[in-house]
Amino acid sequence: MEKLDYENFEMLMAEAGRFHGDICPGISIGTRMTMIGLRSIGITDPKGADRKKIMVFVEIDRCIADAVMALTGCRPGKRTMKVKDYGKMAATFINLETGKAVRLVAAMRKGERGPDDFATASDEELFSIAEVEVPLLPGDMPGKPTRRVTCSICGEAIMDGRDIEAGGGFVCKPCAAEKNYYRVLNPVN
Ligand SMILES: [Zn+2]
Ligand SMILES: [Zn+2]
Repeated sequence: MEKLDYENFEMLMAEAGRFHGDICPGISIGTRMTMIGLRSIGITDPKGADRKKIMVFVEIDRCIADAVMALTGCRPGKRTMKVKDYGKMAATFINLETGKAVRLVAAMRKGERGPDDFATASDEELFSIAEVEVPLLPGDMPGKPTRRVTCSICGEAIMDGRDIEAGGGFVCKPCAAEKNYYRVLNPVN
């Protein structure tokens, strides 16, 4: 496992670009964002010695999410990356050991800056940066599922406390909202 070298923006951007498929503006932004985020929470070896100390929230399902994933080693499937689909160029980096968390939001619109700017501009020019508190529940953490219940409406299993209590039972979020992202056309069984 190679350690993050904070001096070497180009090397890290190339690594993120290999993971993503190309080096686009989002990869430049995400690389610098990750470097600042990790440094701010005192993480120097995210894929090695520090790998169990880190969690990230990304607020967009675009290129920067891939940069954060590539450089931090955090993954949704490891429960160390939470993807909030807010359409914002923002991410929060959390040190699980110290509780320190820092949220960064890209301070420019797409196309206003090139990769050179992301190598040389100051942290504050590129991002709004805030120390934040992220309340995490046991059901948010890596490891075995904390809870598993069945939705009283659709009958499907819900893990990790993502269920909602309703009418003396438990329901999944889409049933509670009476809204799903899909529409069943043809049940096979
Ligand atoms: Zn891209
Ligand atoms: Zn349901």
